Amino acid sequence: MAEELYDVAVVGGGPAGYAAAIGAAQAGLRTVCIERDAALGGTCLNVGCIPSKTLLHWSERYAEAGRAWAAHGIRVDGVRLDLAAMMADKDGVVDRFTAGIAQLFGKNGVEHVTGRARLQGRGAVAVAEAGGGSRTVAARNVVVATGSEPAPLAGAAVDGTRIVDSTGALALPRVPETMAVIGGGYIGLELGSVWRRLGARVTVIEFLDRLCPGMDGEVASRFQRLLARQGMTFRLATRVTAAEAGPEGVELALAPAAGGDGEERMTADVVLVAVGRRPCTDGLGLEEAGVALDEDGYVAVDARYRTNVEGVWAIGDVVRGPMLAHKAASEAAALVDILAGEHGSVNYDAIPAVVYTDPEVAWVGKTEEELAAAGVEYRRGRFPFAANGRARTTGHAEGFAKVLADARTDRVLGVHVLGADAGALIAEAVLAMEFGAAAEDLARTCHAHPTRNEALMEAAALAAFGKAVHV
Ligand code: FAD
Repeated sequence: MAEELYDVAVVGGGPAGYAAAIGAAQAGLRTVCIERDAALGGTCLNVGCIPSKTLLHWSERYAEAGRAWAAHGIRVDGVRLDLAAMMADKDGVVDRFTAGIAQLFGKNGVEHVTGRARLQGRGAVAVAEAGGGSRTVAARNVVVATGSEPAPLAGAAVDGTRIVDSTGALALPRVPETMAVIGGGYIGLELGSVWRRLGARVTVIEFLDRLCPGMDGEVASRFQRLLARQGMTFRLATRVTAAEAGPEGVELALAPAAGGDGEERMTADVVLVAVGRRPCTDGLGLEEAGVALDEDGYVAVDARYRTNVEGVWAIGDVVRGPMLAHKAASEAAALVDILAGEHGSVNYDAIPAVVYTDPEVAWVGKTEEELAAAGVEYRRGRFPFAANGRARTTGHAEGFAKVLADARTDRVLGVHVLGADAGALIAEAVLAMEFGAAAEDLARTCHAHPTRNEALMEAAALAAFGKAVHV
């Protein structure tokens, strides 16, 4: 028997779910958010964006203080790592953020239920509460925002000690001497970077013959060279067929991705399995509720986030699209508008992607490969940070900014940045694309000097006019 009727019941308290719940409550809808974990914030706050960026930031400072500053006249002797303190700091950042979401729920009038939710036919959600009880929540609208989890790799079972997934790699108790990272995507490269900076010898093993498949090819190959220069080793076009943990470490069996002879063995103290993520749909009662999944196991939705069952919606990592927190939050905002009877949509052509390594990589829109495959004629402008004043003054002059513009209309189709602070810099390009800017618009916009954004302006000038002042 259902206890009470809500306008909106959100299942999952990650960036999709908590943003949808707060937005719905702010729109005057009676809202409950059901989250199975004690802490709100989902993958992003607990075991994703926030802890990884905290470790990336401080491990980079540690590596810089030990090596790079001396060339600029700062000698720091006796730099030592206190890993326990670094981890405690990271945990503190996470705790403050997750508690902050609970406060926002209180402030905005979102009811928060801790328990595992299961859809029960139309408009009803059964909750096995964390404390042991159970209840049924009745709602006019149910929003599935259950996110994603690390995808397993056959033959490399995660044991949480020697063979870890991204969650385990955020909390290793000591720096391993050697680490094998299976998967050359952004999660493997970011967490591999953390442990390399802290002292591990890191080997990245990737099935494809390149890193980060969604990244522009030119950027990816330069990126790989820069990471290799920092001491990361790469085994591309290589498949891990088995990983067996023993007391001395993990023995890995490697084979050429293309097949054929050439099996090899290597050992590593710790193996990070980072071969992607999969939508979290198990145990949710979707099948019984009649909610359809697509062929890859995502909850199938239309352009308005409606599933095939009336009153059931889905957003975030559990639906198709880039598995990114800002994509999830944008979908939440759009869905809130729709639930409030307004128009809501997300521009999927202008969703930025950022890899928070050193240097960072960020992009928005199309890659050169995508434009070529689609037969689009484009012009490109590529400006090196080595010719940018701010990059020179800060000692971070690696990489470049690249603007791709339609050859006929000059409209910006893609922007790719490899270099320090690329993640912050890309925001300007996202806004330009959101407004349908031409490369000429970017090139003629006055940029503060000296800033790294001037590289973007000059890349745009190269795309629009074929010339720029500083190259
Ligand atoms: P989630 O954050 O996964 O939240 C889903 C929530 O639903 C979870 O809290 C889960 O416990 C809950 N849930 C699931 N099933 C049930 C149930 N039956 N009942 C109740 N609750 C349930 N993205 C970025 O944009 N930038 C980054 O820098 C970045 N870094 C990352 C680093 C790592 C190591 C990882 C793993 C991910 C990173 N991501 C990053 C991805 C980002 O974390 C996700 O895209 C984002 O969290 C998706 O939000 P979501 O709300 O859809 O799902």
